[in-house]
Amino acid sequence: MYARRVEDATSDTILYIEGLTVSFDGFKALNDLDFFMGVGELRVIIGPNGAGKTTLLDTITGKVRPTEGTVLYNGVSDLATLTENAIVNLGIGRKFQTPTIYVNHTVFENLALSLPEDKGIFRTIRSMLGSHDGDRIADVLNAVGLSDKADDPAGLLSHGEKQWLEIGMLIAQDPRLLLLDEPVAGMTDYETQGTVDLIHSLADSHSILVIEHDMDFVEQIARTVTVLHEGSSLCEGTMDEVKADPRVVEVYLGRG
Ligand code: ADP
Ligand code: MG
Repeated sequence: MYARRVEDATSDTILYIEGLTVSFDGFKALNDLDFFMGVGELRVIIGPNGAGKTTLLDTITGKVRPTEGTVLYNGVSDLATLTENAIVNLGIGRKFQTPTIYVNHTVFENLALSLPEDKGIFRTIRSMLGSHDGDRIADVLNAVGLSDKADDPAGLLSHGEKQWLEIGMLIAQDPRLLLLDEPVAGMTDYETQGTVDLIHSLADSHSILVIEHDMDFVEQIARTVTVLHEGSSLCEGTMDEVKADPRVVEVYLGRG
């Protein structure tokens, strides 16, 4: 089990967040939040608009600084003191809601440009990539189901395929913790199902934190769900436990 006291936060606790408050001009987007996640966990966060979900990811990735509280990665790295780049280099990869791919480059080139030690455009030319890099890209293409589209310009991919490519670009950097903000927003049912399968396969070798609104999708991937409300954790448990909690029905599920 993961630690719930800072002295127990070890390398088994991928995220140890305690008493986290983030104020914007006095408004508390996060309010004394406690959140703990173990290595290898697949966690889903749900909650109404404005609950602070994206702000939590912004804080983990160093885009936003805590006003108060502790944010530890692997029990030791104090994310509040590190730059965004340093946090990426620790193995934390984030996918934003809107894909940020290079539309005029092929799918293959997009992945080549994402390799961790990328030093520039020459890396996109296949013959100049080492066989190790080539194998790695082939593995990622396979994982995200885009092997057949390796030579297509990324701009021609469907919305869902672009999202998968961006997940592939994250995996190419070999992160330990993946942060996915609304990964199935705007996807067709078919694409959503593909994303369920993709997340299940990634969960074997990564810790994954997913924020999502689509409850059918959440039901299919969720192991432990955390409900965020007004910047704090309202409740946490299995999907069934969360759905049966009257407070969750009141602030979130009842509105659907
Ligand atoms: P969620 O992702 O759960 O919908 P957010 O984390 O985006 O919620 O936002 C939580 C609250 O914080 C919202 O009321 C939002 O308007 C506010 N907020 C988020 N970022 C900022 C910011 N940079 N400046 C001011 N207010 C912000
Ligand atoms: Mg959000």
